[in-house]
Amino acid sequence: MGATAPGDAPLILVANRLPLARQQGVWRPASGGLVTALTPVIERVGGAWIGWDEDAQGVPARVEGLNCDLHAVDLEPELVEGYYHGFTNRTLWPLFHDLVVQPVIDRSWWRSYVTVTTRFADAVSEVVEASPTPPIVWIQDYHLLLLPQLLRERHPDLRIGMFLHIPFPAPELFARLPWRESLLGGMLAADSLGFHTEQYRDNFLRTVQRVLPDATVLGDRVMRDDGRRVRALAHPISIDTEDFAELARASATDAEVAALREQFGDRKVLLGVDRLDYTKGIRHRLQAIELLLEQRPHLRGRFVFVQIAVPSRDDVEEYRRLRTQVETEVGRINGRFTEPGHDVPVHYLHRAIDRTRLAAYYRLADVMCVTPLKDGMNLVAKEFVTVRDATDGDGVLILSEFCGTAYEFGHDAVRCNPFDVEGLATLMEGALELTPDDRRARIARMAQVVRDHDVFRWVTDELDAIWDVAGTA
Ligand code: UDP
Repeated sequence: MGATAPGDAPLILVANRLPLARQQGVWRPASGGLVTALTPVIERVGGAWIGWDEDAQGVPARVEGLNCDLHAVDLEPELVEGYYHGFTNRTLWPLFHDLVVQPVIDRSWWRSYVTVTTRFADAVSEVVEASPTPPIVWIQDYHLLLLPQLLRERHPDLRIGMFLHIPFPAPELFARLPWRESLLGGMLAADSLGFHTEQYRDNFLRTVQRVLPDATVLGDRVMRDDGRRVRALAHPISIDTEDFAELARASATDAEVAALREQFGDRKVLLGVDRLDYTKGIRHRLQAIELLLEQRPHLRGRFVFVQIAVPSRDDVEEYRRLRTQVETEVGRINGRFTEPGHDVPVHYLHRAIDRTRLAAYYRLADVMCVTPLKDGMNLVAKEFVTVRDATDGDGVLILSEFCGTAYEFGHDAVRCNPFDVEGLATLMEGALELTPDDRRARIARMAQVVRDHDVFRWVTDELDAIWDVAGTA
């Protein structure tokens, strides 16, 4: 199985980061769906990947296993502060996630964002000009919203696509940005714009209508008075399902599952797996667990809640504060409900775990709690149902209605409103009581949705859309 690219145009990928990880001093392609799905495409057509080198000196120009040239964009610490720690993480991220925390508006950060995008445009231009045949440029995410326009000014005929990996907010939220016209104009210089869901795509189109007087929206197309035509499409990102199914069934995973089962005994396991981010609803989830322990004494000692919290953005104040709050809550719950001589009700792991152990936790969980306050897609939910479908076919997924995955899974997941902590506690209790037949039928249907829309299909759909420039004429 693999993604396909239309034609043989070389592919230039532009993202905040290069797809590299360093293991024992050796650079390798990063693991993860995007790189896996792109590997067969770039294997065939070749190309380049351009990204910030993030303090790493000596990033290689090529690595084994990835048939593309790597171009590192070098950024000075002051620029990183304004562009990355400031504008992308403290302005765009919270605003695009429906103000889960208040975005900070700071004009000096905006200037850094513009400067950094210009650096990226210089790097991409160099590669475009050196390419023997006209390439396709595919830009990833909110770090580079202005890049299509800077490239279009230099290369009027270049095929440019952009995909947004986070939600697109409602017009009244986006309109709060002092730079709203510039940001939309930046995006609209692409030929094709991809969003996870139709809801985000429609938010974008309604925002264009509200903010730009010279734009007309017709169906999924935007036409500007200067003649530019752009298509906005919904393509949900996904995972490599075969890879996860194989991992789930591996004997190394069996061994991990056995060890974890021994540790937790006959207690039911509720599981959360998230980056430690305020959008993920970890505090609300913990409060629901506390309520469950407080108000349903018969459940005490009968279940354990495991929260894997992968460290994230700890240079940013809001993330450091969240960590303190989460750790205080975990301490309080365990302090209140641990019986002497018995295990704690909440296991909190503040670290990344390896893939085998992650698959083992997915296999172990009776109830997987994916309860973000807002999330563009959420791959953990897709990984969980894939792993369970490939093994015992059992398990329950509690899924926030405020994440992209909820649009795909509908009511096969136990849908929750994570802001309603009492309601969440009730759903958790109910999830423990679903019948085995019901659980299995739901897992099978959700896993089928993921198989039908895997990451290879996402890459193919996106590249087809960029190639199909004629469709925007
Ligand atoms: N993940 C990981 N290490 C861990 C736990 C999770 O690499 O210790 C992965 C997980 O398998 C998933 C990704 O992190 O692919 C999280 O993606 P998701 O879309 O759920 O959330 P994001 O972090 O992108 O907001």
